[in-house]
Amino acid sequence: MHTITHFVNGQHTPASSRVQDIFDPATGEHSSQVSLASEAEVGEAIAIAKTAFETWSQVTPLNRARVLFKFKALVELHMDEMAQLITREHGKVLDDAKGEIIRGLEVVEFACGIPHLLKGEHTQQVGGGVDSWSVNQALGVVAGIAPFNFPVMVPMWMFPIAIACGNTFIMKPSEKDPSAVMRIAQLLKEAGLPDGVFNVINGDKEAVDSLLTHKDVQAISFVGSTPVAEYIYSTASKYGKRVQALGGAKNHMLLMPDADLDQAVSALMGAAYGSAGERCMAISVVLAVSDVGDALVEKLLPQIQSLKVGNGLTPEIEMGPLISKQHLAKVTQYVEAGVQEGAALLVDGRKLSVASHQQGYFLGACLFDHVTPEMSIYREEIFGPVLAIMRVKDYPTALELINQHEFGNGTAIFTQSGEAARHFCHHVQVGMVGVNVPIPVPMAFHSFGGWKRSLFGPLHMHGPDGVRFYTKRKAITARWPVGKQIQTEFVMPTMK
Ligand code: NAD
Repeated sequence: MHTITHFVNGQHTPASSRVQDIFDPATGEHSSQVSLASEAEVGEAIAIAKTAFETWSQVTPLNRARVLFKFKALVELHMDEMAQLITREHGKVLDDAKGEIIRGLEVVEFACGIPHLLKGEHTQQVGGGVDSWSVNQALGVVAGIAPFNFPVMVPMWMFPIAIACGNTFIMKPSEKDPSAVMRIAQLLKEAGLPDGVFNVINGDKEAVDSLLTHKDVQAISFVGSTPVAEYIYSTASKYGKRVQALGGAKNHMLLMPDADLDQAVSALMGAAYGSAGERCMAISVVLAVSDVGDALVEKLLPQIQSLKVGNGLTPEIEMGPLISKQHLAKVTQYVEAGVQEGAALLVDGRKLSVASHQQGYFLGACLFDHVTPEMSIYREEIFGPVLAIMRVKDYPTALELINQHEFGNGTAIFTQSGEAARHFCHHVQVGMVGVNVPIPVPMAFHSFGGWKRSLFGPLHMHGPDGVRFYTKRKAITARWPVGKQIQTEFVMPTMK
């Protein structure tokens, strides 16, 4: 049985004393196992990263960017192989796996512009003979903790900008699908990244807690479920670290009666069922305004029934399995809860059987209609292929529902009215908003993040916020007095 270990100081380490099994979700086969780092192993990696920081932070931004240019070319060269790694451990279809790698690479491309992004501000003559300027300096050792659902893209939201800024990095991938990040570590080394700048620590709560509490870790970037995000934010903050912790979601599509229904339904199919609904930006609720609900159901049903579910390695497949047996049981319980709570289950994915994959963690697409705000399938994040339709009488009621929901990650309005769309963008209490765009994930040169209980911390991820997060600002005020002494002053200094 292959054991995935850690990658520290440019090499794979021996296995840890504790390990966890990894399964292929499409077949249920036990495919490998991953080491779970102890506090001592995490400490060793941090010490290596701390030493590497001394030299890496002094490498010119241009030369740091050049490593990333080479890394991008290597990932492109190995794209198919990396997509296979993702599909075999996560289950998503191959094209979707490639899509997440490409979205991750866009952050690498952004980070290649670091010489420009790190530039500070300068004011000449803030006082007589005095100049003032600010610089952005690296923090030191920083750490990233990632969820299972984007094993490449989410780590790439973090480390390219962090290392481009001059920090050294400890990546803690999800213990469910760590192989792609291990490959990334090798490719960074091949691209010329000095040993110790990017390290991978695999593990569970013990490894995470060691990162959160270690005195030499300066900042924590986290993406995962909301309860864990809250824990990460409060613990790491208590230990004096800078933290950005992105949590869960419940994303609404607000469907106006004037929307182009064919386009909305096409967009909805991918947004609700792509990656088996295991996306933090998946649409899981449609608010059907006025009388649009019946027409929506009529157009959705045939598309859901013809969805091709199976092993993501098979080219024509559109939706793969869920990540684990436990997660399949959890999502199935939500479907049961929806029925118990009185929602109308129009499509029951529990009946699906995938030929020659009886042990895989498959659930077919599920569709609920007449969902109401008190139901758990509306209030809670399900993170599976379960779409809920709520009938709402008008636009203000729909907007109010979105604004009252505890999550505020993404949302989208589908309409042909510029006035409605403009009002929505202005008033909706959500961090990322689409207008006739179902999954409004910002591009790498903008920043990604939700509101309310979808994000803890002031800064979003990647883009300009990423550079701010991974640097600290220093303001310098200088004069070069010639021939006259500096006068002693006992009052607050003011510029003259
Ligand atoms: P998770 O919270 O279970 O795990 C995320 C990471 O935290 C993993 O690396 C895991 O090892 C670690 N972890 C888990 N429990 C921990 C604990 N008690 N103490 C310390 N560390 C712990 O999340 P997941 O199931 O891997 O991912 C799915 C979740 O991530 C969903 O809620 C989804 O919405 C969210 N997500 C959010 C975004 C976003 O941008 N907001 C993006 C992707 C995923």
